Amino acid sequence: MANPLSPGRTKAPNGRIAYVNGRYLPHAHAFVHIEDRGYQFADAVYEACEVRDGAIIDLTRHLDRLDRSLDALQMLRPMSRPALAFVIREVVGRNLVSYGSVYLQVGRGVARRDHPFPATPLPPSLVITAKHGDRAKAETQANAGIGVITLPDNRWGRVDIKTVGLLPNVLAKQAAREAGAREAWFIDADGYVTEGGSSNAWIVTAEGVLVTRQASTAILSGITRAGVLDVAEAAGLKVELRRFTVAEAKSAREAFVTSASQIVLPVVMIDGDPVANGHPGTIALNLRRRFHDVAEATPATK
Ligand code: PMP
Repeated sequence: MANPLSPGRTKAPNGRIAYVNGRYLPHAHAFVHIEDRGYQFADAVYEACEVRDGAIIDLTRHLDRLDRSLDALQMLRPMSRPALAFVIREVVGRNLVSYGSVYLQVGRGVARRDHPFPATPLPPSLVITAKHGDRAKAETQANAGIGVITLPDNRWGRVDIKTVGLLPNVLAKQAAREAGAREAWFIDADGYVTEGGSSNAWIVTAEGVLVTRQASTAILSGITRAGVLDVAEAAGLKVELRRFTVAEAKSAREAFVTSASQIVLPVVMIDGDPVANGHPGTIALNLRRRFHDVAEATPATK
């Protein structure tokens, strides 16, 4: 397939290319060691960025959050920031992704299995992959809105650190799928929504005020959440950073979720009950439309 962004570069016959610990490899040959601590202990952190028009969206903010996750777990940087940014751009470029996402995972490294950190720090492991998305499908989904289910938040107390320990999220999203919904909202012990299985949760009150939970150790501080707050401020919308209950969400004027893969996705159903008239809200769709006016876009390598 010809690359519209780079006429000279054609798609590898075997499909996708991954960066694995210093090498660019076809997926069929892309492996990590059996004693990689990410594999055995989920001792690894990650980031996922949107790719749009061949550019990585909000890369600086994603790499800032990666640094915070690494620092929180006393993990080393796999390479300098400019080098890492280059490899990310290169993986997107080599995979000819125009619309989709890029994923990077940094782990504590490979060592004989033992729970505490290895006495001598190891070279961190680094894997970067990119995948194509379907932009038309994403738009159709946003215009239709999604359903969410709610379930108890059974995750650990530091979900602000973006670790690959995602089993509760996997189970929650599977439960959502089995219920015919797209996302699951986690509910804390006091009955308040924390966030989605892979997104932050928002409502719009009857007065048109945007509400999303304040950043804390109980949620992942989403990069898209930060961008939407920027858009809201530029648009002069009122924002309250506070908790909300499922009952408040069900009687809200609008509800939506934000994430790098979906940007802004209206929520039209919560546990089978419609939100407002059961159609995507105009504020959510406007925030979605305006998001990329303010977001940073870093072109992939050509
Ligand atoms: N919360 C969780 C649990 C997530 O997995 C994600 C997606 N990475 C988000 C929130 C949204 O974060 P972002 O906007 O940075 O994708």
